[in-house]
Amino acid sequence: MPSLTTSQIEQIDQQHIWHPYAPIPNPTLSYPVRSAKGVRLHLSDGRELIDGMSSWWCAIHGYNHPTLNQALGEQLQQMAHVMFGGLTHEPAARLCQQLLEITPPGMDKVFFSDSGSVSVEVAIKMALQYWQSKGRGEKSRLLALRNGYHGDTFAAMSVCDPVTGMHHLFKNSLSRQLFTEAPRCLFGQPTDASSLVDLEKQLSQHGHQLAALILEPIVQGAGGMRFYSPDYLRAARELCDRHEVLLIADEIATGFGRSGKLFACEWADISPDILCVGKALTGGYMTLAATLCTDKVSRGICEGEAGVFMHGPTFMANPLACAAASASIDLLMASPWQTRVNNIGNRLSEGLAPCKALPQVADVRVLGAIGVVEMHEAVDVPRVQKALVAQGVWLRPFGKLIYTMPPFIIADDDLNQLTRATVAAVTNI
Ligand code: PMP
Repeated sequence: MPSLTTSQIEQIDQQHIWHPYAPIPNPTLSYPVRSAKGVRLHLSDGRELIDGMSSWWCAIHGYNHPTLNQALGEQLQQMAHVMFGGLTHEPAARLCQQLLEITPPGMDKVFFSDSGSVSVEVAIKMALQYWQSKGRGEKSRLLALRNGYHGDTFAAMSVCDPVTGMHHLFKNSLSRQLFTEAPRCLFGQPTDASSLVDLEKQLSQHGHQLAALILEPIVQGAGGMRFYSPDYLRAARELCDRHEVLLIADEIATGFGRSGKLFACEWADISPDILCVGKALTGGYMTLAATLCTDKVSRGICEGEAGVFMHGPTFMANPLACAAASASIDLLMASPWQTRVNNIGNRLSEGLAPCKALPQVADVRVLGAIGVVEMHEAVDVPRVQKALVAQGVWLRPFGKLIYTMPPFIIADDDLNQLTRATVAAVTNI
């Protein structure tokens, strides 16, 4: 088949391909990428961009990594895929073992699925089925945090912030869940008792009908890139126990080192009952997610009426994806990831600091390898993106936020270019 020219790609793309949260035809051209290596995206027109997004939190080792390439190549020689009903394989077993070793204590069972949103669906179904099996079917609602984001499928949408969560169009078709105010106690600031009042109130008033509390530990991502205090998370764990409500930690964005801990739950030294991971799980190579749970949850489910957990995706535990994830975890654990993440955090703090003095900026904050500049007004995304691309940098602002979470392997010079370009773009808003 002859290759497509860049303008053919652009034309097909603009007229026929949906992009995330985009119209068709798309008035804004997407940038065609020909290849990617390390922290650089190579565009079809020859330009190179430093990737400050890690392809939405995923590519922690950068692109085209020889170790991950090799792992995929070797697995491809064995089999690309095989069904998981009645069959199993080494890539799944190895990955399971690694996940149980590195995730917070108590995680004992692993359910593999294909994307973050599906892993959230699975987590919610686990919580519902657990209480159903225990003869407590009235515990059928979820409590979620305002400003939370958990994905785009239906159960996941129902626990996203109902106002800022991008899903209000579907509100009449979504399960009606309960919401508690977003944590007011920010990361690094003292927590006063008032920050917990609403959470306590919701759990004590509605605990009898709640299957689980779902939250993104420490970092509320797509709902506003807010960092909150470990005290809140610790208290949430205690309150869930007191009111017999399961705790679901959505570590899809924070997992695998991004927040400065391997898992953000570690900031509060807590373990959830159910844990969702995705995104950086495969180092950004393949689409794969997992929902982990304790032995208590799995026993509860399997001792119930159905006797089984009622879910089973076609591409469950895809061997190629499991092999990529396994290699990615090995690579991460063998790397000085904590030093790298700390270094990125320090440089982001320093490099983004000039934004604080600008009148259009409401806040600048950094945690782990995440840097955020929050404006007072919504950002004109295509215009700001164009300015950043002109400076050799790839970022994807949203709402009032220009933010970055670069690959952990980024060199200091590239990081400096990233922050310089961000400061320039913010200055010219
Ligand atoms: N939960 C969180 C915290 C996320 O950040 C995301 C994705 N942005 C999801 C769930 C959904 O993951 P996916 O896009 O892979 O379905």
